Amino acid sequence: MADEINQLVAAIASKRQIELPRFLRSVEGSDALAAELAEVMTAIDSGSPLMVSGASQSAAVCNDLAVAGAAREIVRDNTRAEVERIAAVAARDHDAVIAVGGGRPIDVAKSAAMLTELPVVVVPTQLSADGLASPISVIINADGEVVSERSALPVAVIADLETVAAAPIGFARAGVGDLLGNRSALIDWRIAADAGEDAVDDFAALLSSCALLLIEGLDLTPLGRGELTIELARRLLDGLVLSGLAMEIAGSSRPCSGSEHLISHALDRFEPGTATHGEQVAFGTLISTQLQGGDVAAVREMIAAVGMKGALSGFDLGADRLAEIVGFAPATRPGRFTVLDRDRPSVTALRGLIAQLL
Ligand SMILES: [Zn+2]
Repeated sequence: MADEINQLVAAIASKRQIELPRFLRSVEGSDALAAELAEVMTAIDSGSPLMVSGASQSAAVCNDLAVAGAAREIVRDNTRAEVERIAAVAARDHDAVIAVGGGRPIDVAKSAAMLTELPVVVVPTQLSADGLASPISVIINADGEVVSERSALPVAVIADLETVAAAPIGFARAGVGDLLGNRSALIDWRIAADAGEDAVDDFAALLSSCALLLIEGLDLTPLGRGELTIELARRLLDGLVLSGLAMEIAGSSRPCSGSEHLISHALDRFEPGTATHGEQVAFGTLISTQLQGGDVAAVREMIAAVGMKGALSGFDLGADRLAEIVGFAPATRPGRFTVLDRDRPSVTALRGLIAQLL
């Protein structure tokens, strides 16, 4: 382990090569989006892109875009087989991939772009998670396991703020939840470094904390009432993109994923479909912050302002069940050292802590 840490420190200290997206554009309205996308495709020398989307809302956005020379494919799921299918289509006679939609089309497009070495342009239709500009995709492998894998960093992110503001409000709430997780993730990263289990990359950590700062000082109560304002949408987009870049710089999801994400992964495993990824992460952040001795009141206030009632009530699963789930969390990603590894709280201790929090 010591050798690995030394190598990691050496890798950080040596001159690094990272990629950054070339374009980050936010516009208002579908005409402006189409014009911006056309400009970016010209700038990256693409004349025959493959445009992929989900089946419903994002497919409708594609219809409005009418990108010159583009072929269309619907992404059916986020399995390895689907990544390979999209990659095969893209490699046949396309020079770029455009991903329109939310989590799955973006994840599949980034992984297919990695396989084919084609540039990928992301057009998000919702702001639910930090995957929209990260080099990491969530894919279901051949054994049916959900894995986070290295994928292509988008060359451009172009968002129509009117489209993302019109998406169901749960998506934007989830986006805030995913960003909130940066808070406990960064503390966990330092805990891991103190224990000699990891090394903190200063610039990745700085970007991750700036991503959260973009929304931390804002009045988030419109979201609680069910409204995503254009101003909030812009901040949320920027925050999620910065998180993605933090992961690119770190070369892993570490700056934005600590014990709060492990708790969300454990929920996925034991109580699938409990809530959105971001709302589960918000719940995890509440638990992690308490374990880390952080400002639980501030975390609670933010979750309440946004209107994630499920996260505040532990999704009504009860302290007994939640203690088992949180106790299992470290096993969802062995090697990611967090406060749960440092303190090793017993299930009884977790039950008491959770009962007190909810
Ligand atoms: Zn996340």
